[in-house]
Formats: sequence, C-alpha cells, structure tokens
Amino acid sequence: MSIYTDILKQFWGYSEFRPLQDEIVESAGNGIDTLALMPTGGGKSITFQVPALAKEGICLVITPLIALMNDQVAHLKSRNIKALAIHSGMTRNEISIALDNCVFGDFKFLYLSPERLMTELFRVRVQQMNVNLVAVDEAHCISQWGYDFRPSYLEISKLRELLPEVPVVALTATATPRVAKDIIEKLAFGKPHILKMSFERKNLLYMVRKTEDKYREVLKISQKVDGTGVIYVRNRRKTKEVAELLQGNGLSATHYHAGLKYEHRLQKQKEWQSGKIRIMVSTNAFGMGIDKPDVRFVLHFDLPDSPEAYFQEAGRAGRDGKKAWAVLLYNQADKRQVEQRIDVNFPGFAEIREIYNALFNYLQVPVGAGKGMSFDFILGDFLSRNKYNALVVASALNILSREGYLDITDEINNPSRMHFTIGRDELYRFQVGNPEFDAFIKLLLRSYTGLFSQYVAFDEATLARRAKITRDRVYQYLKKLARLKVISYIPKKQNPVVTLMEERLDQKNIHLSADRYKFRKERFCERIGEMLEYADNDHKCRGQFLLTYFGERDAKRCGQCDVCRSGEKVIETGKEKGVTRTALLKVLGDAPLDLDGLVDRLGDEEELVRLLEELQEEGRVVRGDDLRFVLR
Ligand code: ADP
Repeated sequence: MSIYTDILKQFWGYSEFRPLQDEIVESAGNGIDTLALMPTGGGKSITFQVPALAKEGICLVITPLIALMNDQVAHLKSRNIKALAIHSGMTRNEISIALDNCVFGDFKFLYLSPERLMTELFRVRVQQMNVNLVAVDEAHCISQWGYDFRPSYLEISKLRELLPEVPVVALTATATPRVAKDIIEKLAFGKPHILKMSFERKNLLYMVRKTEDKYREVLKISQKVDGTGVIYVRNRRKTKEVAELLQGNGLSATHYHAGLKYEHRLQKQKEWQSGKIRIMVSTNAFGMGIDKPDVRFVLHFDLPDSPEAYFQEAGRAGRDGKKAWAVLLYNQADKRQVEQRIDVNFPGFAEIREIYNALFNYLQVPVGAGKGMSFDFILGDFLSRNKYNALVVASALNILSREGYLDITDEINNPSRMHFTIGRDELYRFQVGNPEFDAFIKLLLRSYTGLFSQYVAFDEATLARRAKITRDRVYQYLKKLARLKVISYIPKKQNPVVTLMEERLDQKNIHLSADRYKFRKERFCERIGEMLEYADNDHKCRGQFLLTYFGERDAKRCGQCDVCRSGEKVIETGKEKGVTRTALLKVLGDAPLDLDGLVDRLGDEEELVRLLEELQEEGRVVRGDDLRFVLR
C-alpha cells in the first residue's frame, strides 16, 4: 500500500481510490502542477486533501463557494483534520486570528475565497506559512472564456509569485478545451499535466420534450416517473406555480428559491433529502453541495443559459448509477425569450452606472471611501428602496464584479462565533469577581475547545438546552460578556456579502470596457446558442452533443436519448469515425452538398468519400456540374 492509500484509509476509511483520483494524487504529491477535470460527484476533494496530508505544512484551498466552506471545514474536522476558512463574511479580527493560527498552529487546510487573496493582511501572513500545496477549486472561474469568470481568481497568479515553489492542483467539473487551456496559462503551469475523466453519464437518459403546454408535460412526467426529482424553473413565481400544480394533482412537491427565509429553505431541503417530499421545484439556487444519490429525474422547464449549467444541474440525477432522466422542455417561445434574456443580462452602461451609484448610496459609502470593505447585502431590501428589476440589478452587479469594482458572494451561512479575548488566568479572576457569570462560563468551557486561541462556531440553542435556560437568556449572557470585553461574540447571520475592491468613484469615472462587454456578450450568446441547438437539434445524440462540447471528440452515441431512439434520424456528427449510409442519405435528402459541406456536417472525410463512391456506383447519388452531390 502506498502512503496515499494509507491516508485514504486512515482518515476516510475508504479502501481504494476511484479511477483517476490516484493519478491526480500521485501527480500533486510529486509536486507537479496538475489540472484535473472531473464531473461533480467524482470525488475531487480527496485528490488534493490526500497529498496535502502526506506532507508537512498547510494546503491553501481557493474556492468561490463560500456557502460550502463551512461544510467542508466541518467535514475535515469530523475526520480529525485541522482546517479553517476565511472569507468576506468574517470580521477583520476574526480573519487575523485565523491567519495567525495558520502561521503558528498545526492546521492542515485553509479554505479561502479568492477576493481575500488581494488583501495585504493575507499577503504578509501567507509568506510566513509553510504552504505545501495550492488547490484551486472551480478553476474554470479564472477564464474569461468560461461561464463563470471571476476577476478575483486572477489574483491566484500573483499568489504564485509569492509562493514560487509550491505546486498547484486546479480542479473543475465544467471546462471546455478552450477554458482548460486558459486555466493552464493563467495559473502559469510549469509543465502542464492534465488529467481528465470522461464526463459520460451512462445511466442518464437525456430527453428534450417539444411541447406547447409545458405545464401539462411537467405534470405528466412527474406522474409517470417514480422517485425523487428536481424541477428547475427560471423565476421565483413559477416555482410556486408549478409546485401547486403538482400538489393539486396529489403529488408530493414543494418550492424553493433564494428569496425564502433561510430556516424555511433548510427545512424544505431536509424534507426533500430525507424523501419526505418527492419533488423540489426550484430556481437554480437549489442543488449546490447536495449529494442525494437517488434522484430519478431532473426536469428543466426553461432553457438553461449554457451547456455548463445544464450539465451540472441535470447531472444531479442518478448519482447512484441507476437509471435516471434528464429532461428539457422546449418550444418556440424559448427561442424568442433568449433575445430578452440577452438584454436582461447585458444592461446598458448608463443603467449599470446608475445601479452602481444606487448601491453605494444604499451602503452609505461616500466617494473616495470603501476600498476593501465588506457589507451585508440583501437584494430584496435594496430593491424595496430602489425601483429596479431584480434581474437587471443582478446582471449589473455581475458586470461590475467582472470589471473588478466589487465582489459579491453567494449567501453565507455564518453560524455564531466567539472567543475569549482574555487569558485563562484573567478569566479565572473575572469568574471569582463576578460569580453570576461563573456557571455560564464553565458551561462554555465544557462545551467548546479552542476558545482561547480562535473563534469557535457555536449554537445558542445548544447552550440553552444544556444550561436549561431560554435562548434569550443565553443571548443576554453573551451580550454582557462581550460588553465587558471578556469575549468577542459575532451572532449568526445568513446573507450575501458585497466587498468593494475599489473605493467609490464618481459615476462618470467608472470605466466599463466596451471590448470586454462585447466579448462577454458574444460568449454568452455563443453558450445560449449552443443550448438552443441542443434543444432544437433532432439528429445528434444528446449525450454526444454535451460530451463534444466538453471536448470529448471520440464520444459514442448513448443509444438511449430521445434522438438515439428515434432510429433513422440519428446522425453521427463531429469528426468521429463511423459516418453511416443512412446519415449521409438523410443529409443529402435535405439539400445537395459538395464534399466540403458534407465533411462539415458529417466529419470523417475518408469514410464519406468511400460511401459516396459506393452510392454513385449504385446510381443513388450523382454529382452535378457544381460538384455537389445530389440524391436521385
Ligand atoms: P466532487 O467535489 O467531485 O463533487 P466530492 O469530493 O464531494 O466530489 O466527493 C463526492 C463523494 O464521494 C463524497 O461523499 C466522498 O466522500 C465520496 N468519495 C470520494 N472518493 C471516494 C473513494 N475513493 N471511495 C469512496 N467514496 C469516495
């Protein structure tokens, strides 16, 4: 057994690596910069955690998914691995203590969100740390070509300058070949080592249902397919509408979107996860970090923005390897709506500037101030004071963030945290002098460890239960101790955070690059265009379509999607081998084409020439004066 399998067994209890995991682990362990492409659920985390555990020092993990950071840290802690996280939802003091612990403590993993990389505080401390590996999760975020570009990811190249000897492992579940190339360049890989797992999902049945009545179709499919499902719709109103339709027909369903209260959402998620509720009707706010293996269908009511988003969301079905359905509903109205969607996603410059101004007024930041500061940001509250369309605001903030003015996180689920700001001896004297706090302090010390050296997450309700007092009483104790400067106490909250990367500028000084705007708009149109083609097309296998998009040139037909099943209509396209007679006849049946045109449509020139000769000999095809082949 290698040292890596020992670690896998010791900390996770797994006896072997999954395909490709071991290669990534070996590569990272040998200090080689590695790009790993693996579909979600493939087991990416372990591939950097195991080699990092095999070495002295600490591993930096960069991820934009703040919502999942706490889970990951908790997961590692539960396996007796010391880990912590820093992100913009934390106070400066809290971050400072955490960084100190990374320098002086024996922590093995530091999770951090990319916008932290630019801070002076981080830059100074990171050079004092013994960093053994940098893991870049969601690495596609570094590429402007990708669907989820984040400028703060570009800071990672500067991190490399600070840590020139430290190897990098970049991981992603959604990279087209162009994005993969870009990742390697932006991360300045020495000798690029790419390890890619096939994105083929054999048990997933891709379907496109063309229907004028999506509501009827959604009901029909929900009735027909047994088991747990997710239905994705584009707006919040529809989540409720569709859920009510299903409920009205006796099906177990509920709705979910980011506008619902946190507790409410948690409850719904739990009920769905446990199987108490069968169908979740949701916006794309649902699903991240959810690992439910037995989802039998994922249905998209509306067209997703990109194949990347579709592959991720549809891919939540059938993790258990058993048959599952990925269905997209589609009709001509979707095509028209795409135009509108482009407009909403790309508001005019004047409107973006106006929203920028409204945002800073709302946050009460004067011109010339605010650089590096973070603020809670509740979109609903902002909108209640400013009459903008929610989607346009989201797009404007997105563009401002891509232009490097600000950074906006997903909702951060921040538990309450505290630590003692005085030492043990002083605390003892305080207890003696203030006996009314004695029992409560003893309870704290019994319940949590590490309170003197770091902020520790805790739960007021648990303390209340243990002390047999009300939650409010616990809260009062904590407030008082904080006021007396015995503890530092940060109550829990759940909301997105906006970090200002630059100070507030006068509106007219906001520079928005027309070139970048145009570039992004074109890429957006390209991706949504691919999605339209996916839905519209009735000749290319759906699985193959997606795999080709992700650069798998030799992908085979899946044999089970709606296109494959419609027999004759199936054409193998791309440059792959095996263009068939039927396919060729079908294409020529639509219109005469010359050889170039046929190669474009069907690929495999050699095989085409052979088939054309055969068909000409048989007299089924003739070649006209304009060199086009015509069916007779
Ligand atoms: P990803 O980040 O690729 O979506 P995760 O790292 O979250 O995937 O892993 C998905 C699941 O697979 C987790 O529950 C993880 O514990 C499990 N897993 C990963 N590697 C192995 C392995 N070698 N053997 C068994 N289970 C594994």
